[in-house]
Amino acid sequence: MYSIKNSFVFVVTCLMLFMSLTANAKQAEHITKVADNVYAYGNPAAGYTSMFIVTDEGVVVLEPVNSTHSKLMFEAIRSVTDQPIKYLLHSHNHWDHSGGGQVFRDQGASILAHEEAVAWMRANPHPDMALPNQSWSGKRKDIHLGGTTIELHYLGMNHGLGMTVFRLPKEKIVFIADIVTPDRLLFTIVPDFNIKQWVRSLEEIEAMDFTTAVFTHGKVIGSKKDVAANREFIQDLRGAIHAEFKKGTNPFIIPNIIKLPKYESWAMYDEWLTMNAWRILLDDHMGPFPWRAED
Ligand SMILES: [Zn+2]
Repeated sequence: MYSIKNSFVFVVTCLMLFMSLTANAKQAEHITKVADNVYAYGNPAAGYTSMFIVTDEGVVVLEPVNSTHSKLMFEAIRSVTDQPIKYLLHSHNHWDHSGGGQVFRDQGASILAHEEAVAWMRANPHPDMALPNQSWSGKRKDIHLGGTTIELHYLGMNHGLGMTVFRLPKEKIVFIADIVTPDRLLFTIVPDFNIKQWVRSLEEIEAMDFTTAVFTHGKVIGSKKDVAANREFIQDLRGAIHAEFKKGTNPFIIPNIIKLPKYESWAMYDEWLTMNAWRILLDDHMGPFPWRAED
């Protein structure tokens, strides 16, 4: 029998459905379709991009960032598919990338990171970081879901711990966090990067088979050229510092006088060049750091 209570419930249900559809549609604006089943998610103004892969056996999400980002990304995912979230994959340990996992755990996702990243996360808790329930070790792991393969590549030391580069072999797509940011100088004081191993890692990425790269920072979609350009910047900066060493310039004034006109159009050129130069100079002055025996 029809009642006022039933009609009230009906109206509220419709309103909630409408609100959730509107929220999903709003977040859909921040999706970039990379391939048929692959989407980048991120509001460039917020500075972080994630990626999700939709299969007919579920969804795989890369890079939760934080709870706010993950909640909005989940709305974006729901604007594309109703498939369950099967996996959340972490790129590396740092707090500014590894928060927000609980949003996907609540959806039943399994959370996975390289064992090095998991060990750090366990030792360095953060209120927004959910500990992964699975870790992987070694150089490579493949995840197969609904006909899609996602390769997880650990390239050794470069930035942070357990840094994972993801490759989709069929779609020829890679997802890269922090170790390549197109058209921008190195991040501030270049924190937690081993410069020598970073350059080696970039060369290994350049040798991979892919045509499209999705980056956590900077422009959402690029190519192998962006990876090469980041490597060349590091090498050009080191070259400019060495040229000053050769001229006998006092090492401690070099960061303040160094110029790299080729990169003037890159973001943060004026703001960060001196900081970048200090970091590379100290690496050459003190020797590579951070360092571990296996590298
Ligand atoms: Zn990082």
